[in-house]
Amino acid sequence: MKPYDASPEQVSRFRRERDAFRLRYQCPDCAHARVRPSPPGLADATWFCTLGYPNETLMAAQGFLEGSGQFVFCKYFELV
Ligand code: SF4
Repeated sequence: MKPYDASPEQVSRFRRERDAFRLRYQCPDCAHARVRPSPPGLADATWFCTLGYPNETLMAAQGFLEGSGQFVFCKYFELV
C-alpha cells in the first residue's frame, strides 16, 4: 500500500470521478480477494487477501482514505 496525502480539492475531484466513471479499486472487486466463511451462528464472513496484504481500509470500508486523510490504493489490484 502506498499512502498519498490528499488535499480537500483532490478528495472532491476523486469522488466526482469515482462516481462518474464507476471506478473500482477496493479489495472486494480484486481478483486476489476471497471470502473467509465463518462457522454457522458465528460472526459474518470476512474478506481476506490471498497475497497476504491485510488492509482494513480497502477490505471493509467503502472509503478510500485512511484516518489520517491519505489516499490508499493497492498497486496489486486486479479487476475481477
Ligand atoms: S491485492 Fe491489494 S486490492 Fe487485491 S485483495 Fe490484496 S490488498 Fe486488496
